[in-house]
Amino acid sequence: MTEAAARRDLVRYSRQMHAAGWVANHDGNLSARVTDERIVCTPTSFSKLDVGLDDLVVVDRAGTKIAGSQRPFSELVLHRAVYDRRPDVQAVVHAHPPFATAFGVAGRPLPHPFLPEAVVSLGADIPTVPLTAPGGPGAEALIPFVRRCDAVLIAGNGVLTWGPTLELAYLRCELVEHLCRVAHAALPLGGPARLPDALIADLVAKRAKAGLAAPEEGGGATPDPVQRAAAKAIAGIPGADPALVRKLTEQIARQLGG
Ligand SMILES: [Zn+2]
Repeated sequence: MTEAAARRDLVRYSRQMHAAGWVANHDGNLSARVTDERIVCTPTSFSKLDVGLDDLVVVDRAGTKIAGSQRPFSELVLHRAVYDRRPDVQAVVHAHPPFATAFGVAGRPLPHPFLPEAVVSLGADIPTVPLTAPGGPGAEALIPFVRRCDAVLIAGNGVLTWGPTLELAYLRCELVEHLCRVAHAALPLGGPARLPDALIADLVAKRAKAGLAAPEEGGGATPDPVQRAAAKAIAGIPGADPALVRKLTEQIARQLGG
């Protein structure tokens, strides 16, 4: 992609992000890698509504500014953590869409996968990166996930997605928010039902065949051990309420996870 095209896309998706209601104040940031040593990114301290072509900043691989009159954003450290580990990725998007951010701030993992199409688009794992203060340590927490998936929730800090184009990174963020909105709507109804393991395995295989899988993506067909044990236990209890068991299991898993 040429730098001119990347710049046009950055301005377009910044404004689209603002129009979608995913950001307030100066929240959110977008970047596109145009060469190994040139990453074009949105400026810090700007409403995403106001970002224009001349406001964009260019940094090198180390994050040092090499062009532009504005300053880069501090969460660039997260974008660079992705670029450094994913040569296939050319764009990173970060926003605070309300439903996805709600899961992150509540400390609740997204109960994905429950919609088959989303497994093909995003894989079977949309993890939550543990909460850290803004800056360097945030990247440390993100690093273990970067080669395993293309989208994460960050506890207390919205969504980070990446992809081979800015359009795809943006659409992944949009899909994560949509999933969180659906999951939220399903919560009073007992919560979304997890897809059967066999179907998840089929969808993950389809995703890999289409060349969409992240380099070190897991199969995602195996629920975590606590959920597996709960499913086994409930099978022996006549009249047990699956929604209540799921809720208790999630709480216990959260406590075990610290
Ligand atoms: Zn943020």
